[in-house]
Amino acid sequence: MSLSLPHEGERDLAGRLALVRERISDAAHAAGRSVDELTLIVVTKFHDAALLRELAALGIRDFGESRHQEAREKADALADLDPTWHFIGQLQSKKARQVAAYASVIHSIDRAQLADLINTSERVEAGTVIDCFVQVNLTEDPARGGVAPTDAQALAAHIESLPGLRLLGVMGVAPNDGEPQRAFEQLRQVSMDVRQSAPRASAISAGMSNDFAEAIAEGATHLRIGSAITGNRPLQR
Ligand SMILES: *Cc1c(COP(=O)(O)O)cnc(C)c1O
Repeated sequence: MSLSLPHEGERDLAGRLALVRERISDAAHAAGRSVDELTLIVVTKFHDAALLRELAALGIRDFGESRHQEAREKADALADLDPTWHFIGQLQSKKARQVAAYASVIHSIDRAQLADLINTSERVEAGTVIDCFVQVNLTEDPARGGVAPTDAQALAAHIESLPGLRLLGVMGVAPNDGEPQRAFEQLRQVSMDVRQSAPRASAISAGMSNDFAEAIAEGATHLRIGSAITGNRPLQR
């Protein structure tokens, strides 16, 4: 994972958030896009609830978390703020229904079984529709999570058949080593394939602290930005 960029070291939370917003706006402008098309999700994994309260006071409504236990604790602690929880981490089957209890958006659907479990979760059976993304693996390493690009369309079609899920689009993480631009180009291509089965699923969840400008250039709509805003993450709990 990336560390915060050197020139951000002097700034406080509000300053870093303002700087990231400025860079998002510059990247959107350079790509001929409007910032209104972009949703900023602040990734707050490993940070405690107090930091999320500070972010909420700065106008942040969308939080990204990657581990169920930690996310559920924060969802309880911040229930009064009623933020939008985005689950962005790899999801174990046995946790899928539990994540559906608080997450409004799940970015990491990479197999039909997960979608089926969410579709039969208590919250969905009580009438909530959960927004989701098909996660696409943009690396050669199957351990990174995500469906193979060639299987994304079939998974999207399956999700479209489930009443309790609304497919927003595709999600991807660029490889650590490679050029993010190429990975995001590939994700945009997969997005076009998926839209043949699911025409409304036009969103693209892509872009982290070190590559959000490239993601915006390739059509990202949901940016998942952590350390550039929060500062370095505390050591894993
Ligand atoms: C941690 C994480 C992010 C944010 O990473 P930063 O480099 O801190 O911006 C985004 N997406 C996923 C899936 C993550 O796990």
